[in-house]
Amino acid sequence: MSDQTRFTLDDVVSLAKRRGFVYPTSVIYGGLANSYDYGPLGTELLRNLRNLWWHEFITTRRDMIGLDTQILQHPETWVASGHVGSFSDPLVEDVVTHKRYRADHLIEAWLEKHSDKLSEPVAVENMQLPDMATFIAEHQVLSPDGNPVTEPKAFNLLFETSIGTVAGEKSVVYLRGETAQGIFTNFKNILDSTRVQLPFGVGNIGKSFRNEITTGQFVFRTLEFEQAEIEYFFNPAQTNWQQTLEDWKQAMWQFVTHTLGIKESNLRWRQHTDKERSHYSQDTYDLDYQFAFGWKELWGVAYRTDYDLKQHQEHSGQSLEYTDPHTGEKFIPHVIEPAVGVNRLFLMVLSDALWQDSERGRLVLRLSPRLAPYKAAVFPLLKNKPELVAAADEVYAKLAKKFAIVWDDRGNIGKRYLSQDEIGTPVCLTIDFQTLEDQTVTWRDRDTGEQVRVPIAELESRLTTMIE
Ligand code: ATP
Repeated sequence: MSDQTRFTLDDVVSLAKRRGFVYPTSVIYGGLANSYDYGPLGTELLRNLRNLWWHEFITTRRDMIGLDTQILQHPETWVASGHVGSFSDPLVEDVVTHKRYRADHLIEAWLEKHSDKLSEPVAVENMQLPDMATFIAEHQVLSPDGNPVTEPKAFNLLFETSIGTVAGEKSVVYLRGETAQGIFTNFKNILDSTRVQLPFGVGNIGKSFRNEITTGQFVFRTLEFEQAEIEYFFNPAQTNWQQTLEDWKQAMWQFVTHTLGIKESNLRWRQHTDKERSHYSQDTYDLDYQFAFGWKELWGVAYRTDYDLKQHQEHSGQSLEYTDPHTGEKFIPHVIEPAVGVNRLFLMVLSDALWQDSERGRLVLRLSPRLAPYKAAVFPLLKNKPELVAAADEVYAKLAKKFAIVWDDRGNIGKRYLSQDEIGTPVCLTIDFQTLEDQTVTWRDRDTGEQVRVPIAELESRLTTMIE
């Protein structure tokens, strides 16, 4: 078993395209940079990720509730949150090709190659715009095409659009840059319409948009993406923030390693440095995953104090205070925010699951059965034997009521197995002549290739156990 094979991003992209997980968007028109569509299998995988997140963090917790907020919100939301003023990345342009890059990414690449040329270590996370400009000039940092680049300037990532007004004029609105602000702007609604008491958290999943500068890391960084964000509100006088942050770190780790089955050796925590952290945050950690292109942020968790609610209270003129039901004390709660991109989870699970089984000469997607687009494949041994097809039909119909199941009757059984292995189907069920006699099927395991006979009556409970 070659567990150690490291796949390149191209390997992942190629499987994703070939088997219908992800397609470049608008490909018949030549595509659109940083934009992808999800194919039939990718759609199922995304739904599973989303549902598992919702189940673990919302449905099964007494202290959590969910929301579903708009992409278009009142534009003042983004002024209050600071996005209009300072939601930007440092942009540079190759002076010859005019391709655009993030200055911090070019510096990072330079440091990886030339850090020996520096008298003392430099961390790009600690650099502000002027430091980047100085560094690029001093060390003559070039673009990937070997050309000089322009001086870095702040490039705002918010997508601006407009809506018509009654008078026929247009007014500016923004496509949301994150889902979190919808939670803050509904804080008063939640207090007024539910019986929640601190500490409690609110989760929100949905599309966000950022006019990202970087290209070329597949679905890691796209213009349109899906976020799953939580704001966990608490009274800082009663709840210890360090412990709450630690609890959230543990919950995130548990979700990634246990629920999604990701290898711990590909995960690490990185604490933000004082310079890197937003001014209002007291502590921030990134849960990084070792992607084919290096260790990158998968999921961030930050203690944001009462900054956001205070900002919205000030800009809206509405009280966003919470009243303690026992003491009558009024105050603005503090928050801890765990924020993840569903598409980054998607790229991580594909990358982590890909396995070249050199012993059997096959490519396997060893996805956790919870994540697999199909939980089982049903095959009639021969498609020209009506009695086998009818028996297989029955098994399919019974299981499809409860699970995502796929049917395949093309080619020989060996090829069908290989085809299912590549898309991560954990179990193949073959209906053969023995089935007609004793109501058993062949249950073939994706990872070990082992085959056992299982009564049809037991399939449902076995599959249920497999995905629990
Ligand atoms: P990065 O440093 O990678 O740009 P960020 O720190 O700006 O990310 P946050 O604003 O904290 O990201 O967003 C929370 C999460 O949303 C990130 O951890 C990531 O998983 C996801 N995310 C952010 N931007 C994108 C994007 N352009 N495409 C896909 N996912 C994204």
